[in-house]
Amino acid sequence: MTGTAIVVGGSIGGLFAAAALSAKGWQVRVYERSPVELAGRGAGIVTHEKLISALEQVSASTRNLGVSLTERVAFDKAGNVVHRMHLPQIVTSWDRVYQVLRQTLPNGAYQQGRSVVRFDDRGDSVRVELDDGMRDEADLLVGADGFRSAIRGQMLPDVTPQYSGYVVWRALVREADFPEDLRNTVFPHFGFFLPRGTQIIAYPIAGPDNDLRPGHRRYNIVWYSRVDPADLPGMLTDTAGTQHTLTIPPPKVRDDVLDAMKAEAERDLPRLFVRILDSSERPFFTPIYDHQSPVMAQGRVALSGDAACVARPHVGMGVTKAADDALALADNVSAQGVKDGLMAYSAERVPASGEAHHLARELGAQIFYEGAADENRDGRDHPVRDWVMKTTAVYPGGHRHRPDPVSGQVLVPCRTPCSRA
Ligand SMILES: Cc1cc2nc3c(=O)[nH]c(=O)nc-3n(C[C@H](O)[C@H](O)[C@H](O)COP(=O)(O)OP(=O)(O)OC[C@H]3O[C@@H](n4cnc5c(N)ncnc54)[C@H](O)[C@@H]3O)c2cc1C
Repeated sequence: MTGTAIVVGGSIGGLFAAAALSAKGWQVRVYERSPVELAGRGAGIVTHEKLISALEQVSASTRNLGVSLTERVAFDKAGNVVHRMHLPQIVTSWDRVYQVLRQTLPNGAYQQGRSVVRFDDRGDSVRVELDDGMRDEADLLVGADGFRSAIRGQMLPDVTPQYSGYVVWRALVREADFPEDLRNTVFPHFGFFLPRGTQIIAYPIAGPDNDLRPGHRRYNIVWYSRVDPADLPGMLTDTAGTQHTLTIPPPKVRDDVLDAMKAEAERDLPRLFVRILDSSERPFFTPIYDHQSPVMAQGRVALSGDAACVARPHVGMGVTKAADDALALADNVSAQGVKDGLMAYSAERVPASGEAHHLARELGAQIFYEGAADENRDGRDHPVRDWVMKTTAVYPGGHRHRPDPVSGQVLVPCRTPCSRA
């Protein structure tokens, strides 16, 4: 069965949905709010076999996808290696995944600068209204409009993102600017710093235009830092005094917020990461939020990707989860028609999203675990370091549960949406 579909949001989740539906013969129109081509979001993306296979299924290129890594390495505060682990993985960039998906869509199917404001499910079709007053109608509507989704806001007004209590600072360093003495020991690896109260993961990715040549790549730093909820509005206020809700565009982050971040880095991070940060382009931060929708479809309307559920970045799963949503959506509506297909889609994807969401929260909790004030400040003795290192940004096949640090027993998996803070 095929038909017409409107996809709201033209980022990776929307592109995957559009590509998967198009591959099954659906006629798709994508409306993306941003008036300019999207670029550079999220910087580094860790890939999984599932993601590569999903790209292949929608006929997107996986050639030269990213940088191949073989080893994970944890450093202590003094810069010594405290743990090594063999874990081959390809790390790519947000831009690369966006580009290969974008190329799968025919011209005219993707409209930029078009914002959908509401939908009307009319039973035998669904109609959307855009901010310029234009209307469009189709058999199926997919809300792939991110964690602040307007489509979810109308469908499930009680589901709102909750602030986790910490932010992620991200920065990119050009390989040519990377400190010379750290190029062989730090640059080639998936690096960790795992003290109690903060966390760094960092790895090399392609350079601009997917340049994979040694000397032309970049190094991607991801640094989780606690920010009291009372301090967040101040950090989200720009130089003009405008307070942004939920996130702030990177160029608008105030210099004094960056200065405070640098002082914190000097205090808490290994010297080697401070030096790498000093060599980076302007760092930017994103508060970490959680939400999980109890259903991912109603009537003729589906939610996918971050609009449906956010798995915190620790699992490196956002893109793969969006791909899994897209493939399941296209399979189900093509096999069973829109209404039955969407019910099957929701039944399949809510538990799967819940697993990624829950595992991500468990990983996040391991940054701020209970302990004495000075425990593991040097990053040498994380109680479940091995689990954190082999679970971070690894596809949760079989759901690896954190062993209890005292008994060594594996905790019972939680298969329901998690409600703990
Ligand atoms: C620090 C960090 C690291 C990450 N690392 C990884 C990783 O290693 N691996 C991984 O898989 N994932 C990772 N992710 C997650 C990943 O980036 C997202 O989960 C993924 O991009 C899914 O995005 P999406 O398309 O669902 O939503 P978004 O990327 O938020 O896109 C939503 C789109 O909808 C558009 N839009 C919004 N409202 C409207 C409207 N009303 N009308 C029209 N358009 C609209 C927006 O402009 C936007 O383009 C990471 C995230 C972070 C923050």
